[in-house]
Amino acid sequence: MKKELLKVNDLKQYFPIKGGLLGRTVNHVKAVDGVSFTIYEGETVSIVGESGCGKSTTGRAILRLDEPTDGTVEFDGEDLLSLNKSQMRKKRKDLQIIFQDPYASINPRQTVRQVLDEAMEIQNVIPREKRADRIKELMETVGLGAHQADRFPHEFSGGQRQRIGIARALSVDPKLIICDEAVSALDVSIQAQVINLLKRLQREFQLTYLFISHDLGVVRHISDRVIVMYLGRIVEIGDKKSLFDNPQHPYTKALLSAIPVPDPERKKERIILKGDVPSPINPPQGCRFHTRCPFATEKCKTDTPELRAADYMKEGHQAACHYMEEIESGERKPNYV
Ligand code: SF4
Repeated sequence: MKKELLKVNDLKQYFPIKGGLLGRTVNHVKAVDGVSFTIYEGETVSIVGESGCGKSTTGRAILRLDEPTDGTVEFDGEDLLSLNKSQMRKKRKDLQIIFQDPYASINPRQTVRQVLDEAMEIQNVIPREKRADRIKELMETVGLGAHQADRFPHEFSGGQRQRIGIARALSVDPKLIICDEAVSALDVSIQAQVINLLKRLQREFQLTYLFISHDLGVVRHISDRVIVMYLGRIVEIGDKKSLFDNPQHPYTKALLSAIPVPDPERKKERIILKGDVPSPINPPQGCRFHTRCPFATEKCKTDTPELRAADYMKEGHQAACHYMEEIESGERKPNYV
């Protein structure tokens, strides 16, 4: 039986907006607004969506880099939100994060050796006398030479810096790594190398990944399951194959229709969304996607659709749309037809 490693329930992250002379809270940015999902040990779950959908905020809230407003986050059976600061600091040994720009999270005045040594020191994972060997091993594990450990971050390329970020995450022997747009800034060929490295490390060290990305091509390559977010909520979740082969939410369909198809014989209808993503300060009532959805009705403006499965969907695949069966059967046509 699969073991639940991370269980997120009704997670909310509201950021206050201050205003007026007294700097009172006048409103909130509802960046994440009631998100629930489970990640099983050893799998890779990706969160995708446009910029501002709340995917990175979800990752940060899980790690309590920003203190969540509400909800629960259970990791390995323990409620992370009930831990005090020092308990949480220790717990971060098990939950690591790799950022888009590792350079921004690495002290530029430290050599790679110092960066890795410091991570192990903070988490007290390996006795001081054994750290040199561990650093050598880590450098080789991520495809860098042990001799490069005495260089400074600016002496490395973007791809190599991301390998340093991975080495730092691995140095404390984590269970779960959150990869927040970890390959987004890299060239395509380097991206593939880093993704292959992450996959190899997952097999070798039984790692679990939460992979946050706006790039569906990358997500398709790396994930076991995929979560699609829109304006702070999950609109679709499912096994990668089921979700990519048979997307149900009009937003997922639109995102997928934008991926280029390598086969020129296969024609794909591009679904163009109207307008921009609305503000998360005052998100639309009802279905949050209704202002851009080509299938929206009056009901969509008032009734919030819950995640659910139609009877033809594979196990674990759910979408939040009132009309997915009718859209699937072709009974319901887009408004622009
Ligand atoms: Fe579109 Fe309505 Fe479905 Fe929302 S509930 S995705 S607005 S059809």
